[in-house]
Amino acid sequence: MAQLVQQYLDRILAEHAGVSDGVLADYIPELAGVDPEGFALSLSSADGHVYETGSTAVEFTIQSISKPFTYALALDSLGQAAVDARIGVEPSGEAFNEISVDKTSKTPKNPMINAGAIAAASLVPGATADERFDALHDFYSGFAGRRLELDHDVYASEKATGNRNRAIAYMLASFGVLEGDPDEALDVYFRQCSLKVTSTDLARMAVTLARGGVNPATGRRVTNAAVVKRTLSVMVTCGMYDAAGDWVSAVGMPAKSGVGGGIVAVLPGQLGIGTYSPRLDAKGNSVRGVRVCRSLSEQLGLHFLSVARDSRATLRAVYEPRDNVRVYETHGDLLFSGAELLVRTVDRDRGRFEVAILDVSRVDDIDDAARSMLSGMSAELRSQNKVGYLVDPDGIVIRTGSDFEQVRYLCVDDAVEAAEQALRRGFAG
Ligand code: GLN
Repeated sequence: MAQLVQQYLDRILAEHAGVSDGVLADYIPELAGVDPEGFALSLSSADGHVYETGSTAVEFTIQSISKPFTYALALDSLGQAAVDARIGVEPSGEAFNEISVDKTSKTPKNPMINAGAIAAASLVPGATADERFDALHDFYSGFAGRRLELDHDVYASEKATGNRNRAIAYMLASFGVLEGDPDEALDVYFRQCSLKVTSTDLARMAVTLARGGVNPATGRRVTNAAVVKRTLSVMVTCGMYDAAGDWVSAVGMPAKSGVGGGIVAVLPGQLGIGTYSPRLDAKGNSVRGVRVCRSLSEQLGLHFLSVARDSRATLRAVYEPRDNVRVYETHGDLLFSGAELLVRTVDRDRGRFEVAILDVSRVDDIDDAARSMLSGMSAELRSQNKVGYLVDPDGIVIRTGSDFEQVRYLCVDDAVEAAEQALRRGFAG
């Protein structure tokens, strides 16, 4: 039954698999050598369950997706005031590698463009570049829940070809934004960009942000909620380079892309997404990654401005009024991530009941993604010789033709009674 979500993701990936628009980044020679066909999508639920599809084993360099995490570490180590004195939070409307600062403050406009990211790397505490990189490396790995590795070739390549970034760092030093040796800040920055991730690492990093700084898979708090709030805010306004406006209206999730082909997207409180496809559009964003995120948002209703409530509130209680009968009581808004949790919980319990009673009488709102998952669940139960009853007095799930149609009850007692009779008759399915 957990394959319901899997099927959604497989289908969305397949829908865009044929798209071959865009080109590999080639200003770092190593990036031009990757397989252009690599295509992967991973999604982590708020409790750390990961779904993945496509080439999720492929490792690629994190590149600019590192920027929000370094910014978060700077905030975490120095506090917001000290970081704000060096790096702004305004969208720049310029390319990510623009050699520019804010006209009046003479500081980088935001931490998601190279100027701001190099400044953020220089703020990470440490006596040497190695110490600062180690701190970053540990921090990112805490988000991913595993030790990330450095791609030494990409690092060497970035270093050998990074004159534009050198120009930025020396400009920042001349304005007094960078303390210390600009080459040291650059070295940290080149290394942070060269850490290798998979789409699944990105989904786990995203969900750690979605959970306010706690990695749900490891249970470890990596940073605090105030840092996450600030980081996500900057991702909303500046995460997708100068395509931020388009992205926010069409996809509606704080996100960050990188020239390695990755995108990380966060639905606060609910889930984290990682995608990979290395062909980029003119703005430097992964073509298929953007499309996949757009489809996910549209089909699963993930836009953050249309999400009213926290999915963790969905499952209110689970109990067993009789042997072989389990009641799943839901409340709040039943949207994709709530339905995902419900389907996965019912699936996990499937050896423990003959009849699952789903009580939606306290649900305020339900969307089409959740509705279709519930009918998929009902069909799936039947194929396992079990049955799902629905307590839906207001008819919010039931639509003509829905799989739940014949098993709708007005209250839990009626459903339990019907389940008892069916079990007494020796019914199965
Ligand atoms: N390392 C790359 C650079 O500094 C990162 C850029 C990116 O992903 N947009 O140019």
